[in-house]
Amino acid sequence: MRIDIITLFPEMCETVMGESIIGRARKKGTIDVECHQLRDYAFDKHKRVDDTTYGGGMGMLLMAEPIALCFEDICKKTESRPHLIYMSPQGETLTQKKLVELSQYENICILCGHYEGVDERVLDEYVDEQISIGDYVLTGGELPALVLADSLSRLAPGVLSDDECFEEESHYNGLLEYPQYTKPAVWRDRAVPDVLLSGHHANVEKWRREQMIIRTADKRPDMIEKADLTDKEKKFLEEYLKSKNEIMTDNENLSSL
Ligand code: SAH
Repeated sequence: MRIDIITLFPEMCETVMGESIIGRARKKGTIDVECHQLRDYAFDKHKRVDDTTYGGGMGMLLMAEPIALCFEDICKKTESRPHLIYMSPQGETLTQKKLVELSQYENICILCGHYEGVDERVLDEYVDEQISIGDYVLTGGELPALVLADSLSRLAPGVLSDDECFEEESHYNGLLEYPQYTKPAVWRDRAVPDVLLSGHHANVEKWRREQMIIRTADKRPDMIEKADLTDKEKKFLEEYLKSKNEIMTDNENLSSL
């Protein structure tokens, strides 16, 4: 997978994408990330890439032509037509499902907006889709682009080692991940659940799956409704919710005494 980022702050993107797991994957050549300075595609001597908006109003917009020139250059360099994503609070909200869909593209290009955004015409001309990282507004598209590039990169084959596998992670299968513990076995009187020390693989698996169901039911009732559970697991969930309700009713009764 290759990701090209069009930005006014390539150093910022380079720093984040040069560290830790992603940095190592880039060095190994498992993924390729290139950050492009939009100003290099400005056509006046002041390297200007923004201007005021037609119709009046506060703030500046990124102009269409430097963005188009930069993207065309990336197409030439990669000998491809990358899937172009504009990071925008108006886009589709990013989810793990969306990431899996995007991870099928060999070449992805991410455009970071700045100031008030980008001239609409270049979005119409080149952008394939717009993606938001949530219903709030940042000053620029760099942090959103890095969120996308990071979460996308870790899905590329070979980026995570086998023991960092993402298939049991939160959101991958519509459930949140089970609780995890590391050494020591007892920390400040808190012991790791016995089953995890038992060495009994099947029991550990069963406990983890049940914890995923409990966690998701507690933290994300919206997700548990849509989760793909076996009949046995549905029964387990029903019983868990029933006992939770009973405890809550007992507590209410106690506090009203
Ligand atoms: N005036 C725009 C917001 C501009 S914010 C509007 O109201 O829609 C400046 C830039 O930050 C945007 O061009 C976009 O690239 C980025 N940005 C801000 N919030 C974002 C979000 N929630 N998700 C993705 N990108 C965002």
